Amino acid sequence: MESKCPICRKPSLPAHKPFCSARCRQIDLGRWFTEDYRLPDHSLPDPDDEDGQE
Ligand SMILES: [Zn+2]
Repeated sequence: MESKCPICRKPSLPAHKPFCSARCRQIDLGRWFTEDYRLPDHSLPDPDDEDGQE
């Protein structure tokens, strides 16, 4: 069984373990820095909305 990204639940990649991408790693880091799990806005990228951004 592969481990899953704690951020978006996608299968994690070895290069970014335990995350699926550098983006999710940054998101997780941001959470630790701010210690704010309940973000005021919902600007976090949705797993199913990857193409919409950028
Ligand atoms: Zn992810």
